[in-house]
Amino acid sequence: MALDVLCEVTNCVHNREGRKCGAEEIYVVSHKGNKATNSEETDCKTFEPGVL
Ligand code: SF4
Repeated sequence: MALDVLCEVTNCVHNREGRKCGAEEIYVVSHKGNKATNSEETDCKTFEPGVL
């Protein structure tokens, strides 16, 4: 279980100081069904846009 999630998406409403994710949980999805061969094929579906 990940206790600290660091995230570079600074315009997400869940992004906190130090680029830490403040969401209670995150949902990570794959662009290739339920499998991925590298990190570029995954994304956080919990993202919610905030101020750019
Ligand atoms: S919810 Fe996802 S995109 Fe938003 S800060 Fe957390 S890890 Fe990053």
